[in-house]
Amino acid sequence: MSREQLAVQQARKVFMTGRSKPLDYRIKQLRNLSRFVTEKEKDIIDALKKDLHKSENATQLFEILGLVGEINLAISKLAEWAAPRPVNKNLLTISDEVFIHPEPLGVVLIIGAWNYPIAITLLPLVGAIAAGNAAVVKPSEVSSHTAKVMELLTHYLDPEMYPVVTGGVPETQELLKQRFDHIFYTGNSTVGKLVMEAAARHLTPVTLELGGKSPCYIDKNCDIKIACRRITWGKFVNCGQTCIAPDYILCEPSIQNTVINEIQKCIKEFYTKDPKSFADYGRIINQRHFKRIIALIEDNTVAIGGDSDESECYIAPTVLKDVKSQSKVMQEEIFGPILPIVPVNDLKEAIQFINEREKPLALYVFSSSNKVIKQIISETSSGALVANDCLVHFTISDLPFGGVGNSGTGCYHGKYTFDQLSHLRSCLIKKLNMEMVNQMRYPPHSAKKLHWARILLLKQINVARWRRMAQVVMLAALATFVVKRFMR
Ligand code: NAD
Repeated sequence: MSREQLAVQQARKVFMTGRSKPLDYRIKQLRNLSRFVTEKEKDIIDALKKDLHKSENATQLFEILGLVGEINLAISKLAEWAAPRPVNKNLLTISDEVFIHPEPLGVVLIIGAWNYPIAITLLPLVGAIAAGNAAVVKPSEVSSHTAKVMELLTHYLDPEMYPVVTGGVPETQELLKQRFDHIFYTGNSTVGKLVMEAAARHLTPVTLELGGKSPCYIDKNCDIKIACRRITWGKFVNCGQTCIAPDYILCEPSIQNTVINEIQKCIKEFYTKDPKSFADYGRIINQRHFKRIIALIEDNTVAIGGDSDESECYIAPTVLKDVKSQSKVMQEEIFGPILPIVPVNDLKEAIQFINEREKPLALYVFSSSNKVIKQIISETSSGALVANDCLVHFTISDLPFGGVGNSGTGCYHGKYTFDQLSHLRSCLIKKLNMEMVNQMRYPPHSAKKLHWARILLLKQINVARWRRMAQVVMLAALATFVVKRFMR
């Protein structure tokens, strides 16, 4: 039996004992996960420095803070998320208990990617633990130093319930042969299809957090200076290796040079004149990706940057101007520090350009006009839409994070991760009395019975409103009692 098979079987065996059902157990595991992040913070920072040349501050900001926030949120909200959720009823079921009972799915496989390896791998784990599942964690082999640190998770979490399987593609493929109750994959869409195929063999549901080209439209009617600061930050953080980084800019030709000048100023301000020697500027993960990204610059006009050093996997923050839609850089997700500007004549052309391509993970619009923003919202589709900023939607736990179409399926963060990794079981508990109400559904059928069925089935009862009304009636009764008893 392979190591992967063993890990899954063990996790399933322990899950079946019901070990993860009590909320106390889940909270203890979440606290242990938090302890892992705190106690191994230095190892995490060192590993990310080696893997991606991430600075300590960048690791704190983009990997650790959000994760700690989600762990704390899950701990504080777990009782509420896991509690039965009452729903509205109809007249037929008015006296019944009708509710949704969230229950664990079973064994979840979490396959992480390398660009934010800690956050991307452990955020789904927070939800998996909170929802009461067992989970097999497969960190990306590409960020190998960070994967090594994640092996230490088994010293903190219940190792039988949350095994960490490290290794490369063969190990992931071996895992994918096993039966899971949910697969949560983050990575590129080519492998996403393989994951979905493998899951289909067992009818296993999947969450696919994929990527793609996220467009960024700059309206000439906006503060271009501020827009460019935010775009420069969103694009070049982590050396452009961010799934929701603005992939390319769409703007009218009349503002293209202003945009380039403003971005140039920001690059200098953020990363100095020499980003290569600057601690806060990252590196491309490996030579394969370096070569792929460098090839995307070819045949384009370089407006800023363009220099590189293969021995260090360094590519300068680069802006390309007057890029044609047929250019190679516009055919695939860039996932590197290259920012093409594609001129469009107006908003209508920008919308058409976006709609002719796959639905993006994020869509950015910079404009002072509410009308322009609303038009983009109503005439396009994407995983998320952000106006006048980049990336920040990722920080809001109440917003579902995920793609649509080619950019992914399913979503997570906060309660969404809990729900994504739970089965929302419908429960209806009836008493064995009041049989008269049921007569209308039993044969022989008649027009009179159908008339009653219409009344009983079509009238929706808003449970929350009824509860509020009941509370008002009780308060009124209490007040009447107090007045009669004590104020005579
Ligand atoms: P990657 O190379 O680390 O691959 C991800 C995982 O897939 C790894 O664990 C790897 O073992 C496994 N894998 C790779 N090839 C496989 C194969 N042939 N069969 C089975 N498993 C295989 O990461 P990546 O795909 O290079 O990640 C970058 C992509 O991820 C980008 O497209 C980016 O946009 C996307 N991404 C999306 C999000 C999101 O939240 N939506 C976040 C980060 C990255």
